[in-house]
Amino acid sequence: MYDLAIKDGLCYINGEFKRANIGITENRITYVGSDNIHGEVEIKARGSFVLPGLFNAHTHLAMSLFRGFAEDMPLLEWLKTKIWKVERLLEPKDVYWGSMLGIAEMIKTGTTCFSDLYIHMDEVARACEESGMRAVLCYGMADRGSEERAKEELKIGEKFIERWNGEKIKAVFGPHAPYTCSLEFLSQIRERADELNVGIHIHVSETKEEVENFIKANSKPPVEKLDEIGFLKEDVVIAHGIWLNDKEIDILAKRKVSVAHNPVSNLKLASGIARVVDMVKAGVNVCLGTDGAASNNTYNLFEEIKLTSLLQKIKLMKADALKARDALDMACKNGYRAYGIDGGEIKEGKLADIIILDSKRLNFIPAYNPVYSIVYSTTGCEVTHTIVDGKILMEDKELLTVDEDRIRDKVEKIIEKFATI
Ligand SMILES: [Zn+2]
Repeated sequence: MYDLAIKDGLCYINGEFKRANIGITENRITYVGSDNIHGEVEIKARGSFVLPGLFNAHTHLAMSLFRGFAEDMPLLEWLKTKIWKVERLLEPKDVYWGSMLGIAEMIKTGTTCFSDLYIHMDEVARACEESGMRAVLCYGMADRGSEERAKEELKIGEKFIERWNGEKIKAVFGPHAPYTCSLEFLSQIRERADELNVGIHIHVSETKEEVENFIKANSKPPVEKLDEIGFLKEDVVIAHGIWLNDKEIDILAKRKVSVAHNPVSNLKLASGIARVVDMVKAGVNVCLGTDGAASNNTYNLFEEIKLTSLLQKIKLMKADALKARDALDMACKNGYRAYGIDGGEIKEGKLADIIILDSKRLNFIPAYNPVYSIVYSTTGCEVTHTIVDGKILMEDKELLTVDEDRIRDKVEKIIEKFATI
């Protein structure tokens, strides 16, 4: 008898869909196969697609509060004239409700884990604990060349790791980017990450301008310089990685660094199209993220899956540039792998992070090959069940751990103060 049994669904196993029963014991998948199994709780999944949960590998979750706040602007102007100003008004409780809003949206669209870099991170962690969401969290640090600030930032980052690093919530270091953090600061962070045995999540090479300025100041592009100071290891996830040369891609592959690709945000801020196919060919682990809701404007990872595939086709002018299955794996398996979490696959022994989609939706009919249905036809609204760590967070489209109406009311109140910016 399993704690939870998902019966008779079409399950995404090893790159293809097969009919199977899934048994879950506590927080792990303990059976996958065709035996007639039973569970304390059973979900009848005939007529459904069953997938590993999606991993949103780069977010600033509470930026859900700024969804639609500043639009149609280039990145640096957008940050300087709007986002950084409004972020100064954020209080801890605002980050809590903004995070809850993001978590609710993610559960509804099939995300079971996310990696967040932001401020007031205790509130994000609290929202994860209360909602049952899995997450990798870090306090976003920047020294902007000041030694004193570097010390303070590192202390905040370390304290956060001490308080929250555990099983379901992993806490890591989050230096913002090589253009907001000095190389000395980044070296210190690397050293502390080694001592504490935690990873690093950082933005690298998002805009052309930022990379050109970095080369002017350091006579090498960011990834080459980061490698020179010993910063790049398997526990590093870089967000974006758009403006990379061949040598930098080889370095990322050699150091086993993962790249979180954020196609919607990159298009919206006109940052560029990352060299995903080149990175995959070189052996880089590419995963997918949404970035913050202010530059997306959703946390629906299904949009990123489809767009990842489409963008590479047009970038290379080759309709077979990237296989649908590879784009799908980037959203689940590769995300878990990037952050060293034992999930992202429907396989015995893996963490029980699973989503179920209604395969009878008209946009899924006919489903010659469900891999194509998922990658090219899904809107995100087809998700009926979301299971994280063996617990059902959404059942038949109903959220069980968060109160949607309360979130709506709280957010409407919070945003009143942003009207002055
Ligand atoms: Zn970002």
